[in-house]
Amino acid sequence: MAKTHQTINPATGEPIATYEMLSDEQALQAVRDSHQAFLEWRKTSLEERGHILREIARRLRANKEEYVALMTREMGKPIAQGGGEIELCAAICEYSADNAGKELADEERELQGGRALVSYQPTGVILGIQPWNFPFYQVIRYSIANIMAGNTVLLKHAPNVWGSAVAIEKLFCAAGLPDNVFRNLLIDADQVNPLIEHEYVRGVTLTGSPRAGSAVAAKAGECLKKSVLELGSNDAFLVLDDADIDQAAEICAQGRIYNNGQTCVAAKRFIVVDSVYQQFRDKFVEKMRQIEYGDPTDANTQLGPIAREDLRDTLHDLVKRSVDAGATCVFGGEIPDGPGYFYPSTVLEDVKPGMPAYDEELFGPVASLIRVKDEAEAIRVANDSRYGLGGGIFSRDEKRAVDIARNLFDTGMVNVNGYNIAQPQLPFGGVKDSGYGREHGGFGMKEFVNVKSVMIA
Ligand code: NDP
Repeated sequence: MAKTHQTINPATGEPIATYEMLSDEQALQAVRDSHQAFLEWRKTSLEERGHILREIARRLRANKEEYVALMTREMGKPIAQGGGEIELCAAICEYSADNAGKELADEERELQGGRALVSYQPTGVILGIQPWNFPFYQVIRYSIANIMAGNTVLLKHAPNVWGSAVAIEKLFCAAGLPDNVFRNLLIDADQVNPLIEHEYVRGVTLTGSPRAGSAVAAKAGECLKKSVLELGSNDAFLVLDDADIDQAAEICAQGRIYNNGQTCVAAKRFIVVDSVYQQFRDKFVEKMRQIEYGDPTDANTQLGPIAREDLRDTLHDLVKRSVDAGATCVFGGEIPDGPGYFYPSTVLEDVKPGMPAYDEELFGPVASLIRVKDEAEAIRVANDSRYGLGGGIFSRDEKRAVDIARNLFDTGMVNVNGYNIAQPQLPFGGVKDSGYGREHGGFGMKEFVNVKSVMIA
């Protein structure tokens, strides 16, 4: 009998649906089917692929309400935020369709005594292992880039959002994508290694924790396959002495709380220079305090539940251990009574090295305040992290902020006077323990292609 998995609504703790899982042999058959599809798909023109991607975008928008409700049910995303995720997915499809001709075109090079072409050719089946925090976006960003580049795609999605995984496969199919160019595999993490080992799988991309990234990359390396990793972070947002404090407090609170605080690239450590610390701290605390958790299906709710009970337990443990190590909990920091996996908006102060809030990713609505002497110390503290995904700088002096961003910040993305969100045309990814490789734009489309030189004498 097939193994099954039940999804749970994190706002109520009640079951949503039960899914039959694939056996190991069924998963391997999907790899073979995907390879057969690849042999045809790689021959299609960019125009044909782009046509289907535009239809996917159209259908994403047409079914938006249904998909938003599904994400809210499965991982507790506030219903008011889901539309933005689906719009972003549609924009990624359209951007890829519009720009692949330019990004993947042959490049000509002059040589001594001849010339050459550099061409970007598809390599085969690409496996994507994805998390639950953006159930549609995480899948769309790697799969659309690879489908556009002529690869075929397998998905192992996080089990708590399997309804979303099934819906995406149906959507791709209805939009005219040939069978097996995209395949959703309802499998658990233990079934992944044989897929990576399979000769037809040419690469693997994972978004998730460093622990999962390290395990998957080790297997890929053993099999001489390329991997791309987009892992967590403990992003630093610098509030400098010339910042607009009202604006900074508002944006920092929104950036921390967005998607229930479960965004890899969210602001997490707020590093504030001494001269404006008290002013920022008071305004920021006031903003965070105003954000109350509630029913994610209510259009007024800004903060829904944590996506799984074990993730809430981990978050609470990191908060408790930070407080035990000397951090001050300004408010929040308690697991509330009642159904669902809610966690209140929380602010920690006096956060120092050696505390989980300083060293680790706190995946939930918890902000860490760090007071520093001046700009130089702010930069040192920002870089004092095993991670390096995103970051932010609040200053009225654009040149000063851009100089810090360019020269001194140890991170893949920096936002000046705003918080980071993905953009279809901009590379997205990190350094250090936040992973390697880039999603989006031409960078994303070229991660798993064969960059071929053709020399002509
Ligand atoms: P995981 O990294 O464990 O899960 C992400 C995906 O990887 C899931 O599909 C998971 O499958 C899969 N996976 C995990 N381990 C392996 C493995 N050894 N081989 C193959 N696939 C694997 O994240 P969690 O959901 O448990 O969250 C833990 C923490 O990770 C969070 O608190 C947060 O700090 C970070 N995180 C970061 C995200 C980001 O956007 N960068 C997104 C989500 C989490 P399965 O669930 O079946 O094990």
